[in-house]
Amino acid sequence: MLMSALPTLAELEHHDEFAARHLGPNEAEERQMLSAIGAASRQALIEAVVPRAIARPQPMQLPAPVPEHQALAELRAIAAKNRTLRSFIGQGYHGTRTPTVVLRNVLENPAWYTAYTPYQAEISQGRLEALVNFQTMIAELTGMAIANASMLDEATAVAEAMTLAKRSVRAKSDTIRVAGDCHPQTIEVLRTRAEPLGLAVDVRPFATLADDGEFFAVVAQYPATDGTVHDLPALADAVHAKQASFVVAADLLALTLLVPPGEFGADIAVGTTQRFGVPMAAGGPHAAYLACRDEYKRAMPGRLVGVSVDVHGRPAYRLALQTREQHIRREKATSNICTAQVLPAVLASMYAVYHGPAGLKRIAQRIAAYAAALAAGLRAMGLEVLTEAGFDTVAVELGERADAVMARALADGANLRRLSATRVAAALDETTSRADIADLWRWFAPEGATLPSLDEFERGVEPLLPEALRRSSAFLTHPVFNSHHSETEMLRYLRRLSDQDLALDRTMIPLGSCTMKLNATSEMIPITWPEFANLHPFAPRDQLAGVWEMNDQLCAWLAQATGYAGISLQPNAGSQGEYAGLLAIRGWHASRGDAKRDLCLIPESAHGTNPASAQMAGLSVVVVKCDANGSVDLADLEAKCVQHAERLACVMITYPSTYGVFEPGVKQLCEIVHRHGGRVYVDGANMNALVGLAAPGEFGGDVSHLNLHKTFCIPHGGGGPGVGPVCVVADLVPFLPGHGDAGAPVGAVSAAPLGNAGVLPISWMYVRMMGADGLRQATETAILSANYVAARLAPHYDIHYSGGIAGIAGGGVAHECILDLRPLKETSGVSAEDVAKRLIDYGFHAPTLSFPVPGTLMVEPTESEPLVELDRFCDAMIAIRAEIAQVESGAWPREDNPLKHAPHTAEALLAAEWPHAYAREEAAYPVPALRRHKYWSPVGRVDNVWGDRNLSCSCPPLADYA
Ligand SMILES: *Cc1c(COP(=O)(O)O)cnc(C)c1O
Repeated sequence: MLMSALPTLAELEHHDEFAARHLGPNEAEERQMLSAIGAASRQALIEAVVPRAIARPQPMQLPAPVPEHQALAELRAIAAKNRTLRSFIGQGYHGTRTPTVVLRNVLENPAWYTAYTPYQAEISQGRLEALVNFQTMIAELTGMAIANASMLDEATAVAEAMTLAKRSVRAKSDTIRVAGDCHPQTIEVLRTRAEPLGLAVDVRPFATLADDGEFFAVVAQYPATDGTVHDLPALADAVHAKQASFVVAADLLALTLLVPPGEFGADIAVGTTQRFGVPMAAGGPHAAYLACRDEYKRAMPGRLVGVSVDVHGRPAYRLALQTREQHIRREKATSNICTAQVLPAVLASMYAVYHGPAGLKRIAQRIAAYAAALAAGLRAMGLEVLTEAGFDTVAVELGERADAVMARALADGANLRRLSATRVAAALDETTSRADIADLWRWFAPEGATLPSLDEFERGVEPLLPEALRRSSAFLTHPVFNSHHSETEMLRYLRRLSDQDLALDRTMIPLGSCTMKLNATSEMIPITWPEFANLHPFAPRDQLAGVWEMNDQLCAWLAQATGYAGISLQPNAGSQGEYAGLLAIRGWHASRGDAKRDLCLIPESAHGTNPASAQMAGLSVVVVKCDANGSVDLADLEAKCVQHAERLACVMITYPSTYGVFEPGVKQLCEIVHRHGGRVYVDGANMNALVGLAAPGEFGGDVSHLNLHKTFCIPHGGGGPGVGPVCVVADLVPFLPGHGDAGAPVGAVSAAPLGNAGVLPISWMYVRMMGADGLRQATETAILSANYVAARLAPHYDIHYSGGIAGIAGGGVAHECILDLRPLKETSGVSAEDVAKRLIDYGFHAPTLSFPVPGTLMVEPTESEPLVELDRFCDAMIAIRAEIAQVESGAWPREDNPLKHAPHTAEALLAAEWPHAYAREEAAYPVPALRRHKYWSPVGRVDNVWGDRNLSCSCPPLADYA
């Protein structure tokens, strides 16, 4: 028989592998890169760079990878194990309809979801405008002076409000009074957060909140978790008489009809924006909000977007008051939040833009009308309706019939809220229909009752909204909320905003420490499947079987990647994982009668979230010195261990270090700390340099967090959502965060048991499609790419690394490299920031600026960038170096050159007058390729100082743009 002209079946099948799509360079390109570095092979490179002492003895044990369509089919089968019942549970999570124009053009659009946190304001004007809309929406709906650009979830937002209040009030007490009818998950998270800070949470009946006694703040829910709308205005004076702070956790949709907290004296308003078009998704991601009175603004947690001006005097947005944040303030920061919930915040803001004030009000009125009809019908059947004043939720006292009513609803595919042994509530939402009301009456109906008909209520019933608390003030009056109500206009508004921004769909984003890698389409597709999106986090556990199966598999796979024994996916950002991990260490010490161990050693090169998290966990921070390579000074570490022997709780290191170096002494470091009775926290943000090569749980770490939004492909979303799993060795497993578990040593750290459950399919798909080999290749390619960039740029820039590049003798870099621009500042006056801004003219997002070393750029190319893009970046950096040389030689003045005036807007370049010492072409087209393909910065360089001096955080008047 003739041999077939076709390749073998195995070869043909191999072609479907996802890894080849995820990795940028192909085999030929890899050889070219190795040769540029001077390494014989990829293996030789890895052996030269990764210390032998930490190399993992065994490869990861993961299921063999499957192609994209097959992984999707597998996950769909797991998703099918979820049961998406109609939800009347409420408790902070409600059914909602994501406008499809927003679903497709924001949530499913890489121009939005692959963007980075808007630290480079000029290339982020679109998402910054969306966030200013968000802040405006929150401030106006709550009636407060100022709102930030999103918190992680409602429960943690209340906890942040607690510390904000503590920082801001004159009352000396350490007690916070909390209404017992706040959402239970809020109370639990508040307790977790209060304890290490030495604050007491006094949960008491609403009616006794203002009773005699001392307290620094009062928290009430509006409406309460059972749906009751309390007379909160009556409480405000009593709280203020104690010089305490009044915190109101308010439902945003209810505020379209109810007097907002800002109008009755609340100091802080918090809550979730979930029901503004963001699916429940088994608990998240959703943007929570925090708004406060003007006097509190400098003590606010989280990110704040403000309006400033650019060099041409045009309005421009940028992040405001950044000096509050952990990057600068370390353990004195106002919170540890770094990654937040930007994409969900954008979704919620666009829901308000699309519906406008009238549309929102109509949605709320429909819900209120249904709720009033529901209550009236239930009463007509002789039931004891408990809700006198309410908005969307009706609670009923059922006595012994409670079980039966719950069961009847369940049998018809619906979940009600069980308030107590005898009480059941139903929370209505945007998706509630007439048929739902009829069903609810049927489920609640006593034996033999005549069922009411909605026709009886057609001409309206008196709403449950109390007369005195009905809102009369206007909200969302700005044109942005009153212009985009047709789909055509909405579509174009979304496109206009995203066109202003540079995201991964246009260019590499070489941000060191942030790992801006591919977010593959197949990874993203499952997150909007209804089987995942339409799940209430507190539905009966069996209805979430698919979510838990996905959780268990992902935890097992991440345990393989990290070498740890136990993992919790509950923390919804890296910072929250740090916090949970430190609580585990603290809880473990306490369980051994060692509660006096309250001190955390942190190297000076650490990321700002580390000290900020330590502070929140009640640990004092002692800084450990680093050497010139950024490696921990082991002698100093040992000296501090000895000096603080009794109080040592742990050390917090990053590995590879924040300098992108595999510190060879890491095992020794762990050994020193262990010898002195401390535990080792390994910040896992740099896991992209380790997966498959080394596991922190094996080389001495006791606890790590991962950033699934870095290493495991969850997109950055313009600054969130994230997932920050906390991973621990065996003896710390009992100290992982609980959720509603009585007697657990560590309580909940997030509102939902699985935190941002809705984005876990992304990481699941990534691991499932890559397999052990693919993941290791990704790590190796990330290291290869970083060393290639370092090798190409080494002749032009000073590179911070542990050894010589040529042949990698004694070094090379890990997965990122630091370019030191400080010497150039001396010779040319050009700063790292100037280079970052000049890169915009070349069409690039800047690398990480001035972290971990001021005056440097840290480049992390990741494994996903093809060689052509790595080269485009290196060529740009080399061309920029030549521009700096022009300044050094005096050809261009120090103050008038394309670097100092970057980025250049089209408007500035087209101005009749061109007063500069360099040509317009040199400014706009420094390399020929830009003539065919050019990103135009919508604004010139943004003035940060002006914005902080003239702080304004809501939509600017349109006249500003005239
Ligand atoms: C990103 C990062 C963090 C914080 O993670 P978030 O998810 O942004 O909260 C902590 N440490 C290091 C080294 C990081 O790069």
